[in-house]
Amino acid sequence: MPDVITIGSYQINKGEQVKIELDVARLPSNTLINIPVHVYRAVEDGPVLLLMAGMHGDEINGIEIIRRMIASKAIVPKKGTVITIPVLNIFGFLNYAREVPDGKDVNRSFPGSTRGSLASRIAHLFMKEVFPHVDYGIDFHTGGGSRYNYPQLRCKVDIPEQFELAKAFCAPFIINAKLRDKSLRKEATQRGKSIIVYEAGESMRMDELAINEGLDGTARVMHYLGMRDEFTKALSEPLIFQNSTWVRSPRSGMFQSYNQPGDEVKKNQLIGMITDPFGAVKLKLKATKSGYIIGLNYAPIVSQGDALFHIGML
Ligand SMILES: [Zn+2]
Repeated sequence: MPDVITIGSYQINKGEQVKIELDVARLPSNTLINIPVHVYRAVEDGPVLLLMAGMHGDEINGIEIIRRMIASKAIVPKKGTVITIPVLNIFGFLNYAREVPDGKDVNRSFPGSTRGSLASRIAHLFMKEVFPHVDYGIDFHTGGGSRYNYPQLRCKVDIPEQFELAKAFCAPFIINAKLRDKSLRKEATQRGKSIIVYEAGESMRMDELAINEGLDGTARVMHYLGMRDEFTKALSEPLIFQNSTWVRSPRSGMFQSYNQPGDEVKKNQLIGMITDPFGAVKLKLKATKSGYIIGLNYAPIVSQGDALFHIGML
């Protein structure tokens, strides 16, 4: 761990806690938008852990997890450094939206560039100023749209360092997730750094299960990295899913699930139904595989082909 960490125009020494603002761009109204970065450095040497949320501006549970950790001072490490970005995509947060105002997704814009779109510039700013300092990271997300994700870690289980970090977090589920092009997780993995993704809850809704699992898991990761003494042991070992599949809606209509996120289901089990508003249609939905419901669409009205149940297979 270097004696001095430089982010933007700030130099942070061991033992210091500093709040940094990284300027990104202005709103059309001329207000300058910056990304707040909080850095907590212990005196004692140790790893640098990134805790980041709000890459998708409408995914609030991760923002709340970091807020509670800051407020309770649980974020302060006994050794090493915590760098936290509670809201990366400030533009999306202001607009209650996943993307930046032009519709681009920051998590499909890495590593970014200084001359690209706004999403690309946000990604570049992060990669230039913050990423080089990071040893390990947790990137907090929720399901997009109205899809609820049961608390889960996404990582490459064949990369031991990532898998160990995910097991240390010990959310109920670990998903062996493919790396998506231009995502932070792919860029970090290609550069040999372990940034795992915590997915829990749905966008634009606070969910106590998602928040509490996130708080407990982050404390366990900090303990695993030697940055913290106190932690709550998980009630059970995580289930590890090698693959997953979506059950999609065979027709448009109204959707009801017979199951909850986290439920175990058997192949061909009746798990929900699609109806029309006039009592003429009642289509049964069956599980296409045996597994667990790792994600569930809470939308009451769906179109043909919409993803309804995300089933993880062990
Ligand atoms: Zn997300």
